[in-house]
Amino acid sequence: MIQGIDDCTTLANGVEMPWLGLGVFRASEGGEVEQAIQWAIERGYRSIDTATVYENEEGVGEGVRRGGVPRDELFITTKVWNSDQGYDSTLKAFDASLERLGMEYVDLYLIHWPVAGKFKNTWRALEEIYGSGKAKAIGVSNFLVPHLEDLLADAKVVPMVNQVEFHPYLVQPELLAFCDEHDIRVEAWSPIMKGRAAKEPTLTKLAAKYGKSAVQLVLRWDLQHEVVTIPKSVHRDRIAENADIFDFEISNDDMEAIDGLDRGERFGPDPNNFDF
Ligand code: NDP
Repeated sequence: MIQGIDDCTTLANGVEMPWLGLGVFRASEGGEVEQAIQWAIERGYRSIDTATVYENEEGVGEGVRRGGVPRDELFITTKVWNSDQGYDSTLKAFDASLERLGMEYVDLYLIHWPVAGKFKNTWRALEEIYGSGKAKAIGVSNFLVPHLEDLLADAKVVPMVNQVEFHPYLVQPELLAFCDEHDIRVEAWSPIMKGRAAKEPTLTKLAAKYGKSAVQLVLRWDLQHEVVTIPKSVHRDRIAENADIFDFEISNDDMEAIDGLDRGERFGPDPNNFDF
């Protein structure tokens, strides 16, 4: 059982990744993201998920430095954006991310989306970056089974993480099974359905049994599925609420009831059909 905010999963290459992190998509560059990160670190979070396209890497770096926790106790993720994909351009984009973050390395570097015709060359660049030690782990995001099969056909390094949209309305058991089989850790984006989980009737009803909020129930459900989770908030009370998920265990019946909400519904773009 995952018992505390310090608990980590061990990725395929031995790197320790916290089960819970703070997402910062749509946290504004500057004061907002810096403050959110400081509150999160104060509450015990040690993992932050950003991306080049969020345009807040400088604030992430600043927030982390102000958080006062040594860099080697933190887990920082960023991602290469679609327009930077390709071998040389990814290497350049990575250096620019490090520069904005003001860091010597990141803990995890991800391909943000599986851009057709490009992601394999992008992956070669990530393998090179991994070899240099400037990314402690590398992975992908928004890769479905066919994308992963295609990538694995040529990859020298198997991605350690696949960050995908994952929540009770989009469970994707086949993708989970495939990742499990290849020792790829699944990480949930939009884990609380962009806030909608708070009002989902089945979730609110079930959550009451545990004396928890629907959001806390869903985040715990992630952990019991062995899925890393990165809820986003810029509010201190919610950052704390979202971390208060380590003192209860969802029963098997209730896990199944939450799984049963699956209706293949996405709140974000479809990795098989995106045009950016
Ligand atoms: P989430 O499912 O984390 O939901 C965030 C929303 O829920 C915000 O509007 C937030 O508002 C609100 N919220 C947070 N906590 C609570 C709470 N306890 N009760 C009620 N509402 C709450 O959505 P995201 O899309 O942000 O996903 C999380 C992270 O995943 C992102 O921040 C990003 O790091 C990553 N991501 C990755 C993607 C990818 O393609 N790889 C795509 C999308 C996200 P407020 O901030 O005002 O509290």
